[in-house]
Amino acid sequence: MSSKDSRILSGMRPTGKLHLGHLVGALDNWVRLQEDNQCFFMVADWHALMSEYECPSVVSESTFDNLIDWLAAGIDPAKSIIFIQSEVKEHLDLYMLFSCLTPLGWLERCPTYKEQLRQLSDRNVKTYGFLGYPVLQAADILLYKANKVPVGEDQLPHLELTREIARRVNGMYKKDIFPDPQALLTESPRLLGLDNRKMSKSFNNSVNLSDTADSVRKKIQNMITDPKRIKLGDPGHPKECNVFSYYKVFLRQREKEAFTWCTDAQKGCIECKTILAEALIEKISLHQEKRKKWTKDKAGLEQIIKDGRLRASQFAGQTLKELKQAMGIL
Ligand code: SF4
Repeated sequence: MSSKDSRILSGMRPTGKLHLGHLVGALDNWVRLQEDNQCFFMVADWHALMSEYECPSVVSESTFDNLIDWLAAGIDPAKSIIFIQSEVKEHLDLYMLFSCLTPLGWLERCPTYKEQLRQLSDRNVKTYGFLGYPVLQAADILLYKANKVPVGEDQLPHLELTREIARRVNGMYKKDIFPDPQALLTESPRLLGLDNRKMSKSFNNSVNLSDTADSVRKKIQNMITDPKRIKLGDPGHPKECNVFSYYKVFLRQREKEAFTWCTDAQKGCIECKTILAEALIEKISLHQEKRKKWTKDKAGLEQIIKDGRLRASQFAGQTLKELKQAMGIL
């Protein structure tokens, strides 16, 4: 198998500013993957609109802002195809064709659908469009015949549905058009939010890549630590402390040391948090420094988006043509 044999597609919904979870949970992984694979990275603006349609300006604002974060994180347009979903019209064409043959039951039973209806309680997502969310995602993936899809665990049902749609289409039109795409689960440990809940914009519990040093310090000092550690002299239980889980991700070189100073009660939580906060500030300010180059170079950014659109469209157009031929509608 040649090194570029895996074709990878992943996407992110532009619904606001990115946070540390996006960096370690997705972007760092994408950066590694682009070395040995053919990668397509997509801003899923149609998907974002499905939940943000009441206030859609956040989608277009975040599209450019997030793209700048991708580039600052090291996504390289010379290695990867970076594009905006709505600019490649074939996504909606394929979505329409898939809609015709996707049984309603598959979508109604999809566990992520029920979960999202509960989670996005501040949005009205009881819509026709939102039910079809995974069908559009299947179109994203299959349009490029991606065989690997880096996603978080929460996306597994969408991958399963993608495979089911692919099989149904291949079987129905008697042509092996689509592959059997597999999820590529991100290995990095899951980063919880500052309040120990899932890190999410709607919980307002994340360290954002755009945060100032002062705001990072405040956020980290407010984190809940080991509830059993009350006095400085009490030994702590790092495994039950979210601050320590941040050490595991961002300060690996001091993880052992921190474990000891906590369990031996050598350092207090305030000092432990200060050390973490300063490390995060360094990481974030480095990222912000890299962002500057792209915020100043609007033309360069537009060129990347245009290139990405042209390159993605070539693949997309070919796949769509192949399917339409097999269906006899071309
Ligand atoms: Fe958590 Fe650090 Fe306090 Fe231990 S010393 S409980 S790891 S904040």
